[in-house]
Amino acid sequence: MKRKNNNRKLKLKSVNVSLYGYFCLLSVLIILLVDVVFYIVVSSTLSNQAHERVLSAGKEMVKAVESCRETSLVNSSYFLKGSINHYRNDGIEVYILLKGGDVIIPAESELSEERINDMLSKLEGAGEGEKITYVSNGFVSFSARADLCGEDCMLLVSCPLNVVRQTVTKMQYYLLLISAIALLLALLISYSFSQKLTRGLKYTSETAVKLARGDYSVSFTNADYLELAQVSDTLNYVRDEVKKSSDFQMEILANVTHDLKTPLTMIKAYASMVQEISGDNPEKRNKHLQVIIDEADRLTGLVNDVLTVSKVNANIGELNLKVFNLTEFLYGIINKFGYLEEQGYSFMVDVEPNLYTRADSEKIEQVIYNLLSNAVNYTGADKTVYISLKSNPDGSRARLSVRDTGKGIPKDELPYIWERYYRSHDSHSRPVKGTGLGLNIVKIILQTHSFDYGVDSERGVGSTFWVDFPLQPA
Ligand code: ADP
Repeated sequence: MKRKNNNRKLKLKSVNVSLYGYFCLLSVLIILLVDVVFYIVVSSTLSNQAHERVLSAGKEMVKAVESCRETSLVNSSYFLKGSINHYRNDGIEVYILLKGGDVIIPAESELSEERINDMLSKLEGAGEGEKITYVSNGFVSFSARADLCGEDCMLLVSCPLNVVRQTVTKMQYYLLLISAIALLLALLISYSFSQKLTRGLKYTSETAVKLARGDYSVSFTNADYLELAQVSDTLNYVRDEVKKSSDFQMEILANVTHDLKTPLTMIKAYASMVQEISGDNPEKRNKHLQVIIDEADRLTGLVNDVLTVSKVNANIGELNLKVFNLTEFLYGIINKFGYLEEQGYSFMVDVEPNLYTRADSEKIEQVIYNLLSNAVNYTGADKTVYISLKSNPDGSRARLSVRDTGKGIPKDELPYIWERYYRSHDSHSRPVKGTGLGLNIVKIILQTHSFDYGVDSERGVGSTFWVDFPLQPA
């Protein structure tokens, strides 16, 4: 089994590694996406800009050439050279060519054969005054026919695309640099984040191991995240519950050992007395044997109560609910106390017929039995116990009341009587051999059922213990 678990563990991925890996993958994908989008947007914007600049410069040059119509060629050349130089400083080449393809302005310029042929072929099909833009030979170009001082000329305005390419390459370089830095930062952040998360998980796991070894002083607190904080809260709750259960076991052990000691000592002492002293004296012997019987009964009661508490605690939440006739059920339990009538006890019963409830009948029997036993034990000199079961006006609930005529319970002790091993010092009409567990059993069972219960008690008058049962149709 252990080996199987270890094999499974080997196949599992660490949260740390998974988080780190996914975060890195996500970062790379985002950076790639940003890079591609940036590249497309920047290169298309720059090339659009080059087109626009060439077009606007071309239009301006057409206007400039047309304005020289009335001027001599020398003056025109001088005037146009100014504009051409201005555009050249801006990275745009401007040429004015004769119809045959010879460059006349600027005079000293060299224009490749290929570009001249390109322009001629583009302008071939174009009509008078038509302006053409095109991309070829690594240039964005603008061409148009123009009339310079009566001469039929051609205008060529070009912007080299390598400037655009250079800018895009430079940007790509910076983009890569920024991406690398961003990736590095993402790696660092994801590393520290995954470390922080696993630190919390490791702490929780180590603390849980300490708890499993019985250290109840541990506290699950080191949580930086909501989910971890919830796990910590749950584990703190588990710790408290386990501690309670362990304390309970210790308490039971201590109490039971203590409670067993007294009757056992008594039994041994009286048995020795019967053996050595009173064996031949029937009166004394019977008295001593009665003490032994009483103490043995007390031991049986104690053991039974401890067993019931353990059982109730173990099966807490496991209710075997069913609908049953509460009235008949109550009569059945009261009948079990019938033997007490010989000892002078009387039970005054006032019960509505055929009231049905839905509950775990076995556990409810324990509740009623404990309440009746207490009433018998603590009732007054008249040895009377009053039992009633009455439905409320709207028929939704029935209240079971068990009343005695004993000394009552002091007000300040009322909240404690439901606690384990609590025994009042001042409510006993006659010596009562209790264990202090009966009402605790009642409390646990009724709380599991979510039934209301309580006690009204008046000093010198008596106590009434009550339970409200929800009523069900038969
Ligand atoms: P015990 O075995 O001592 O009766 P319980 O849990 O049944 O244990 O009751 C706890 C304490 O509550 C008792 O010791 C007693 O002091 C008080 N008590 C319970 N029932 C009555 C009652 N009907 N009248 C007076 N006191 C009562």
